[in-house]
Amino acid sequence: MSDQKPVSHEATLALHAGAGQRHIGEPASAPPMMATSFFTHPDAVGFSANDLNEAVPHFYTRWSNPTLELLETRLAALEGGEAALSFASGMAAICALILNRLGSGDHLVLSNVCYAGVAELAHDILPKHGIAATPVDTSNPEAVAAAMRPNTKLVHIETPANPILRLSDVAAVAEIARSGGAELSVDATIATPLGMKPLALGADYVVHSLTKYICGHGDALGGAVIGRQDRIAALRKGSLIHLGGSLSPFAAWLILRGMETLAPRMVMHEANARRVEAFLADHPKVRSVFWPGSSRHPQHNLAARQMRNFSGLLAFSAKADGGALARRLAERLQVVSYAVSLGKTKSLLFYIPTDDILRSSFHLEGEEACSYRDWAGDGVFRFSVGLEDQDDIIADLDQALG
Ligand SMILES: *Cc1c(COP(=O)(O)O)cnc(C)c1O
Repeated sequence: MSDQKPVSHEATLALHAGAGQRHIGEPASAPPMMATSFFTHPDAVGFSANDLNEAVPHFYTRWSNPTLELLETRLAALEGGEAALSFASGMAAICALILNRLGSGDHLVLSNVCYAGVAELAHDILPKHGIAATPVDTSNPEAVAAAMRPNTKLVHIETPANPILRLSDVAAVAEIARSGGAELSVDATIATPLGMKPLALGADYVVHSLTKYICGHGDALGGAVIGRQDRIAALRKGSLIHLGGSLSPFAAWLILRGMETLAPRMVMHEANARRVEAFLADHPKVRSVFWPGSSRHPQHNLAARQMRNFSGLLAFSAKADGGALARRLAERLQVVSYAVSLGKTKSLLFYIPTDDILRSSFHLEGEEACSYRDWAGDGVFRFSVGLEDQDDIIADLDQALG
């Protein structure tokens, strides 16, 4: 599908990157979990983040910790980036990046359909700090170009975008950002590092909610930013240490353990989603279904160009009364859980009413609201297809949809 490296190499990275030299007698199972808040060492270290440089040893876990460092090294290797920085959640990572790169008087361009928390951050919080934000349909590069201003410092896109799985062309938007003197960050949580390589496509930063596919088991929150060494060092110094959203070593350990199976999980999530998409596309109660791996997806050609694994998240809408169908599914589903979040081993399904999300999170009107409705209808079912047997997932959907 594309000329990038095969996934098999990455399966090895997900297990071994950053593990260092092997010594006889050391544990071969889980990586060590450094459950400590601080470290002793003989060399004096200043108390200010301003004293931080690469030579400073681990000192205080809000600054750095060996377990977090292993996770960061592994994520950077998987993304093909120079460095990574972990955070307590995906939101902590995105918020730290935005506040690090933009200040009062600066301007942000972002996807008008993206994770609701990011849309609300841009609408409700950033203006209070003097940062203007313009949400645009980033699936249309011309709309991004038209939104650029002389003070635009960052363009933030999410592809595939939660919850409708609309895509943005990373290479095209990277070019627009660069020529406008801005940086590009890409939230690739849904694609995972195995599905897409935003840095190779020209992005400056990749952000992930580690809470989703990368951890994969729904038992830890985490986030990360991956990018150039100097930028990540500045982010540690200028945002992580002072805003304080550090990942806990135990959460990092759970995420590292989850990552050991990231590659085979993504292969299986993709295969199961392919089968479920075909089932839903034929179902009489389903109005439309969106999954980037299907030729029915309106941007399938773009997906094939910039993705190598299409992930396990799909979105569908109902022909009639989505709200009533959501209640029916919540009551009847047995294998699939009616729950928020995504990227877990087990199948998860959740209904997002269009009127609610347009009003509370996206604030879309006119043509942009119509475009969202074209995809989502009166509401979208976000279906994170899990690793259960395909026949059991289909049978469960079949009996619950009726
Ligand atoms: C969940 C999610 C986030 C936020 O991550 P948390 O770990 O819940 O803070 C950001 N972006 C996307 C695409 C997500 O799905």
